[in-house]
Amino acid sequence: MTQRTQKDRNTGFYDEKAECMGRAERLRFKQGEAVRAFQYACEKAPGYRRFMDERGVDPKTVRNIDDFSKLPVLKKNGMPERHQSNPPFGGFLAVPVEELKRIYASPGPIYDPEGRKEDYWGLRKCVYNIGFRPGDLVMNTFSYHLTPAGIFLDEACNGIGCVTAPTGVGNTEIQAKTMAGLKINGYIGVPSFLMSLIKKMEELGYEIEKDLAMEIALVAGEILSPSLRKGLNDYGIIVRQAYITADLGGVAYECPQENGMHISDDLYIEICDPVTGEPLPFGTIGEVVVTDFSNECYPLVRYGTGDLSVLDEGECRCGRTSYKLKGIMGRADEVTKIKGMFVHPRQIDEAAAKFPDEVEKIRVVVTRSGVTDMMTVEILLKQGVAGTDLLKTAIDAKIRESTKLRGNAVFVAEIPEGSKKIEDRRKWN
Ligand SMILES: [Zn+2]
Repeated sequence: MTQRTQKDRNTGFYDEKAECMGRAERLRFKQGEAVRAFQYACEKAPGYRRFMDERGVDPKTVRNIDDFSKLPVLKKNGMPERHQSNPPFGGFLAVPVEELKRIYASPGPIYDPEGRKEDYWGLRKCVYNIGFRPGDLVMNTFSYHLTPAGIFLDEACNGIGCVTAPTGVGNTEIQAKTMAGLKINGYIGVPSFLMSLIKKMEELGYEIEKDLAMEIALVAGEILSPSLRKGLNDYGIIVRQAYITADLGGVAYECPQENGMHISDDLYIEICDPVTGEPLPFGTIGEVVVTDFSNECYPLVRYGTGDLSVLDEGECRCGRTSYKLKGIMGRADEVTKIKGMFVHPRQIDEAAAKFPDEVEKIRVVVTRSGVTDMMTVEILLKQGVAGTDLLKTAIDAKIRESTKLRGNAVFVAEIPEGSKKIEDRRKWN
């Protein structure tokens, strides 16, 4: 089915001046703002100042972006402990609590403040640029309790003139009926739930051609596989991803090119070594480290999200000049450093997925020969498939493509049940 959209969801900008700013100008602006945000946090947020003191950093010595890039990374996974030792926000709040609008509680437990500034989370731009337009009828299936996802996307949609149906999570049957009954044309939520709703409509006897009005979906919170995107596209729905978190709001969004997510204009993002916090070169996988320079309530500086991605500096055909994140590729605590490069289990699976008819199971075994890391790629073939040199060469090439490392594929008779995708057998003593 072709797109059933009635509106132009592929052109136009929410804020053309900011989105199409010259690249050199943007970099200068963002780097200046990042340093300013650091000074602001040190001055206004006692918890952040204490974090700097603990690490022996004197704020006065941080004058430019080179100094800034050496600052310690504030790890998200350490925040629950910081919050609990000095509740409610570990001293990271830069304004009095009574000036807040809401406080959310996410598992951890961790508390996320929301200030009173209009479009506090910077999500209007995100929903508009993904393709929502004034007058859309949007069903928001994120939770409206405890965590902010439901409310902040609801408000972002309202903010650009959409009408929302705050359906929240679960209740598949009621939601499927609502989707048909109200002729809902916009969806917000995880991608698999949208597919479940469509299947439920079919099960309930609705006619997709007549009863499904869905045109556009913003999906987040789970990996969107190419096959799921294609499956939803086949129902005539445009599906675009956003990278949204409970502490930073809108971090990045897909444009109509659907090839990477543009970084928000209010954030300075570095891709860093998850262990040392050093910025990595373009095109290298690493931890997404964010500085939010527009947030006066809760200034997060060099905040280590724990998410892995790659920065794409290529020019985008949509006309936006911001760098893009090439999707979220897993969690930083799952990576293994091999020959100086970070490798995530998903990169190994990605290579194996190129051989659906041949490869049954795959794992990487890392060993050390002298001072050199050795990467062996063990392949268990499907029954009846011959381990030819040709196949080995093809697999080697795909491994190199996805990990940027030379591996050595070997065909094995067994890969033990429950073994790790990347087995590290290096001895460090
Ligand atoms: Zn673009």
